[in-house]
Amino acid sequence: MDRGLVSNPKDLERMQQELGSLSRRISELEDVELEVMEQLETAPAEHARLAEQLARIDRRAAELVASRDSTAGEATSQAATLTAERKVTASGVPGDLLALYEKIRAQKGGVGAAALRARQCSGCSLELTAADLGGIAKAPADEVLRCEECNRILVRTSESGI
Ligand SMILES: [Zn+2]
Repeated sequence: MDRGLVSNPKDLERMQQELGSLSRRISELEDVELEVMEQLETAPAEHARLAEQLARIDRRAAELVASRDSTAGEATSQAATLTAERKVTASGVPGDLLALYEKIRAQKGGVGAAALRARQCSGCSLELTAADLGGIAKAPADEVLRCEECNRILVRTSESGI
């Protein structure tokens, strides 16, 4: 460098600064190259791991879709059975009681009657008092009982607690 080819000391100083700057840049690029090489080494393993994870997720999604379709099919079949059963049951209910039931059902979100189970109305969860239960116990079997709270037809069962 300093062999008389560059006569101006300022030029020499500038060239030395440039050389230093280029050396630093080379060093930086070597670091980057190393980083990239490391990433290239780990990339295939990471790709394989992600591909396996994706395949697992795809299998799970397929299982869930199959399960959903199966459940939906069962529900549709059950609904058809229940609709048929309801028709048979309704045909045995006196007209005025059926009309009352339908009226309450329309007002109460599709549930016109509720079982009295363990001293509780299963329609609204009201727990009946001992006096109410006593009255119910004495009522004739064909008397239509109503829940004081939700107004639904209260159906006595073997689990009523009376
Ligand atoms: Zn109730």
